[in-house]
Amino acid sequence: MVPRLRWRFALGVNHGPLSKPKPTHVAVIGAGMAGLVAADALVRGGAACRVTLIEPSGRAGGVIGTVHHDGWLVERSADCFLAARPEGQALVSRLGLEHDVVGVEPGARRALIWAGGRPRRAPQGFRLMAPSRVAGILGTPVLSPVGRLRLLWERLVPSRRVGSPDDDESLESFAVRRLGREAFERLVQPLASGIWTADPSRLSMAAACPEFLAMEREWGSLWAGERARLRRQPGGADAAGARYGQFVTLASGMESLPRRLAEELRRLGVRFVEGRVTGVGKMPDGRWHLDAACLEGDATTVDAVVVAAPTYVAATVLRGVDPDLAAELAAIEYAGSCIVSLGYARDDVFHPLDAAGMVVPRTAGRRILAASFSSSKFPGRAPEGCVLIRVFVGGALDPGVMRLEDGELVALARRELAELLGARGKPRLVRVERWDHAIPQYHVGHSARVARIDALVDLHPGLALAGAAYRGVGIPQVIASGQAAAKRCLTATRAS
Ligand SMILES: Cc1cc2nc3c(=O)[nH]c(=O)nc-3n(C[C@H](O)[C@H](O)[C@H](O)COP(=O)(O)OP(=O)(O)OC[C@H]3O[C@@H](n4cnc5c(N)ncnc54)[C@H](O)[C@@H]3O)c2cc1C
Repeated sequence: MVPRLRWRFALGVNHGPLSKPKPTHVAVIGAGMAGLVAADALVRGGAACRVTLIEPSGRAGGVIGTVHHDGWLVERSADCFLAARPEGQALVSRLGLEHDVVGVEPGARRALIWAGGRPRRAPQGFRLMAPSRVAGILGTPVLSPVGRLRLLWERLVPSRRVGSPDDDESLESFAVRRLGREAFERLVQPLASGIWTADPSRLSMAAACPEFLAMEREWGSLWAGERARLRRQPGGADAAGARYGQFVTLASGMESLPRRLAEELRRLGVRFVEGRVTGVGKMPDGRWHLDAACLEGDATTVDAVVVAAPTYVAATVLRGVDPDLAAELAAIEYAGSCIVSLGYARDDVFHPLDAAGMVVPRTAGRRILAASFSSSKFPGRAPEGCVLIRVFVGGALDPGVMRLEDGELVALARRELAELLGARGKPRLVRVERWDHAIPQYHVGHSARVARIDALVDLHPGLALAGAAYRGVGIPQVIASGQAAAKRCLTATRAS
């Protein structure tokens, strides 16, 4: 059957003359950031390599997407990435997108937290769970006087005895133990839920927040660890909630990154096929067979495979190859969330929106997790005289949100913004994004599970996994996972 294609086919430019050895043929399953980066690293890896990239949606980027509408620029999911890690910036530069990079507006480099019935500034010098400024803690209205003193006491809390370097603990247990329950409930839980949309009683410190775990182990306290970090990297002492100065976006929208990368891959001869892989099989000669209605003939047999689809897909397609591996992959849970983007006339929102956004503690008893003030954070997100706010609902602790109709979600988001930020009147832009099973959950023990997955994958030379489910959900970490998967395939195929 000839595959139905919206994507242009291109044959591998790395095909050499007949006398040269046949290029290694690698299939990459999934064209999210991980799959695109893996394909890129494969074709640029120095060896003759032919890459087929298989993706059911007919577009590159996976969850990353940008919508442009009448002067509004709405990110469907990710709206920025951490520039402190090198992978994102390096890719952006290589693709010639440096001119498009913009940082968070200086006036918006802080988080608001809903506390005591109003939005309050996150304490100055407090980064996710690491305090660095006594005055910032003593002066914060987010905590009671007792809660502030307990947080200041953190430097005297003894470190936990660790049995092994892999010893894990939940974010809730760690934060309550070190900072006190009030600081956990009013600061850490809302700030963390804005990032991981996870259940903090299950979220793994070792997998999600290794930096803070290391501070305790190395410096004895978060206070000491954060101050040591600031001595090494001055300039971050004004963090209020997160290090907003270290996040960047693309002025033209985040989708420019995968789109430009896909264009580059086509230029390099990567073959894009629209379709779904339903199974992968290992052949007696060490090569791999792909079950996919969109492929036929020789195209179904490859020398190596990168599975860059979510783990619940990877588990299904790899069941016949290794049931133990499939079981480990299937055990990684995903949470869903919805983003309701609302655009208002500036005059219709009472709050000045002078921050990157606002997070709402679970103890407030509201359904909203966070509101991101897109037009305050980055230029060009809303037409002149208007503001764009993205409202996040759902997450691991409120899965019921996914069952609401779009109209109910919009009504919920409008109600929350009216009560929390004084947003009145009819929004000029309304957009709902549903992210069902989109965010891998790093539960306690995740790092050990990933180590078991690595050991099982090692039994199958020519097989590699990539994506957000393993070593970090942020875009730079996902890029790193795609690069590592490509390296693994190239090493295996060179050795064979
Ligand atoms: C709502 C939301 C907000 C986020 N915000 C940020 C942020 O601000 N900053 C940040 O750094 N990160 C953010 N992230 C995380 C980051 O965007 C993701 O971790 C990353 O883009 C995931 O890339 P991926 O390639 O691993 O997975 P995906 O993007 O999920 O791609 C997987 C691909 O596999 C394909 N696929 C599925 N089944 C098959 C099959 N059977 N055969 C072939 N292909 C298949 C899918 O169609 C998809 O294209 C956010 C994520 C979400 C969901």
